[in-house]
Amino acid sequence: MIGIVIKSTGSWYLVRAENNTLYRARLRGKFKLKGMKVSNPLAVGDRVEFDIEKVDEETAVIHKIEPRENYIIRQSTHKSGYSHIIAANLDHALLIATLVSPRTSFGFIDRFLVTAEAYDIPVTIVYNKADMYDEEMQDYQRQISFLYSQAGYQSLSVSASLNQGLDEIEKLIKGKTTLFSGHSGVGKSSLINRLIPDLAIKTSEISAFSDKGVHTTTFAEMFEVEEGTYIIDTPGIKELGVIDIPKNELSHFFPEMKELLNKCRFNNCTHFNEPGCAVVDAVRHNQIALSRYQSYLSIMHGDDNRK
Ligand code: GDP
Ligand code: ZN
Repeated sequence: MIGIVIKSTGSWYLVRAENNTLYRARLRGKFKLKGMKVSNPLAVGDRVEFDIEKVDEETAVIHKIEPRENYIIRQSTHKSGYSHIIAANLDHALLIATLVSPRTSFGFIDRFLVTAEAYDIPVTIVYNKADMYDEEMQDYQRQISFLYSQAGYQSLSVSASLNQGLDEIEKLIKGKTTLFSGHSGVGKSSLINRLIPDLAIKTSEISAFSDKGVHTTTFAEMFEVEEGTYIIDTPGIKELGVIDIPKNELSHFFPEMKELLNKCRFNNCTHFNEPGCAVVDAVRHNQIALSRYQSYLSIMHGDDNRK
């Protein structure tokens, strides 16, 4: 049978078969990722082949993982060097942000965007809590939307509380698997609850299968909005795994810089203090936002600016 992993607790996986039946599954055999040590061979979003064990009709054994279109990882912070695959086969990511309570910094947004570029996952920035914005803030929000549109990213302004802009999110996620990400407190759960009104029922169905006493809030989980439309929620994960990018390649992950690269005098330009730099020139002429350039420098210099 063929299915998709919708939850993982480390040793057990919850698989949804094509006919929508849920199975508790385990993995048989050794699965390795080339060139990387990972703590979990299988992640939410993986497409798998499995067999049902005769002893217990609800239990399945996974024997094959389909090749991944993409995947995101959290890099190890331990000496062991094991990374964790957060999710696989993503079509799109929504970065939920807010201008107030709490305010999401440009630094955080830009780091997220760089990582998503490296994973080749398109991002839409969703500003939630629009009901709290006064006129001045609405104006500021429009400036930010313009700033990110210059970099090639679409932004939306929504309110989970007032149910505003939710239809636009529905359009964006239809027929796709979308990662929902953002700092805690921005209203990610509120939005997901609006998009999937019977989420509580679905979650309890899933827990009945997989939890068995272990609570695993740091694992990603996939929810069905409707057939073909899935949301992957990543509780406890604020950002995508930051990956190591060589200094002279970092600008490849800033789309507005990437298109200028062949205009710099030196082809290995780091856009910092080299003469004849087209990127610095574009920043001077407001074609690249100063905040984006500051994020670029901050990532290049390895500053820890993740808040
Ligand atoms: P999460 O941590 O990102 O999942 O955030 P929650 O969904 O738990 O929301 C955090 C807080 O923000 C809660 O007190 C929500 O009621 C509030 N909140 C969420 N969405 C909105 C919104 O659109 N407007 C306002 N004013 N508050 C919101
Ligand atoms: Zn340059």
